[in-house]
Amino acid sequence: MDDLFYASLKDVDRDVFDAVSSEEVRQEGINLIASESLTSKAVREACASVMTNKYAEGYPRKRYYGGCENVDVVEELAIERAKKIFGAEHVNVQPHSGTQANLAVYLAVLQPGDKILSMELSHGGHLSHGYKINESGKIYRGEFYTVNKESGMLDYNEVLARAKEVKPKIIVCGYSAYPRTVPFKEFGEIAEEVGAYLMADIAHIAGLIGANVHPSPVAYADFITTTTHKTLMGPRGAMIMCKEEYAKDIDRAVFPGTQGGPFMNVIAAKAVCFKENLTQKRRNMNAQIVKNAKSLANKLTTIGFNLVSGGTDNHLMLADLTNKNLTGKDAEAALQAAGITLNKNTVPYDKQSPFVTSGVRIGTPCVTVRGMNEGDMDKIATWISDVIENPSDENMRSKIKSEVAELCAKYPVYK
Ligand SMILES: *Cc1c(COP(=O)(O)O)cnc(C)c1O
Repeated sequence: MDDLFYASLKDVDRDVFDAVSSEEVRQEGINLIASESLTSKAVREACASVMTNKYAEGYPRKRYYGGCENVDVVEELAIERAKKIFGAEHVNVQPHSGTQANLAVYLAVLQPGDKILSMELSHGGHLSHGYKINESGKIYRGEFYTVNKESGMLDYNEVLARAKEVKPKIIVCGYSAYPRTVPFKEFGEIAEEVGAYLMADIAHIAGLIGANVHPSPVAYADFITTTTHKTLMGPRGAMIMCKEEYAKDIDRAVFPGTQGGPFMNVIAAKAVCFKENLTQKRRNMNAQIVKNAKSLANKLTTIGFNLVSGGTDNHLMLADLTNKNLTGKDAEAALQAAGITLNKNTVPYDKQSPFVTSGVRIGTPCVTVRGMNEGDMDKIATWISDVIENPSDENMRSKIKSEVAELCAKYPVYK
């Protein structure tokens, strides 16, 4: 615990301080949640800075408030650095979340009732891609494509056929639980053929794209949205990239369209995280995330797990536990008791409900940031298997829990 960092919090609010302390301890465990990462101390310091005090509606040099000269500096830095990482023409770093970034894109180019074509939620899509319990599915009409039933992967001809049938105004690609390379070029061709906009939502894979370990959508997509807290390893938040011709519409859709004042402390932290993503050290780490995922996937397959699509190209994999006679929900709980955190997840064509599920999603960002390597992935795969094969063996779980703690102690999160 960094006592200096929390000195006042400890003094003023013991309850919140205690919860934060417990969370620091919890985060020292093995975290395989594919959508999470661990920020640097520098990112956290920017988040905790006095920039949280500032109102700055508008954009750099065009604000509706006085006193914006310092927040302008960090927003311009964030924009310039993001452009450098991705080679985008225009960047808006103000969206508070990935969901809000997506809503802003829809607001910029769609009319109520227009069709959004995206991946089926249970196949790896996201709520904000036109799903009916999200605003995007209430204002607009969500239509969906799926992965191929045999391969578990996207099939160009199937998606093209669906696009021709639906005639959407916008096609969305980029997912929350797809273990393979997203074929942005092919999506560009499909969008062009049916006269639709293309939006690439790279929330999960932005860091990998920045490190050149996943192809970039910049040449093919009209709009690119991403969170900054997944593989980019920055603060919770998001951004939108687009071609210059859409710049004004996108900026207006973010503010005043869907948000008021930007979180300037978070934008400062985004600038810091983008600087980190431009270093060779971070690029190497992103490459290691993929190596670790491949290694974990190989080991799991060798010891009898069925992975959706047979493996992974990125930072995550989906294990289908149907052959293990254990639901995703029960596997998640058993692994948690052994000190391993991950999440249950539907697999394509799942027969279980989204609350129960037949699978688990396993991601390598958090274990990689703290320095774990391929050899450690072998150990983690074996522990996962031992727990899942013996879901009611409490002795085994507590033995594994102490082995997990031993490995974690070798790789502290904040050194
Ligand atoms: C995580 C994610 C989002 C949403 O991010 P929030 O910041 O939680 O709103 C959007 N799209 C995809 C594909 C995601 O995986």
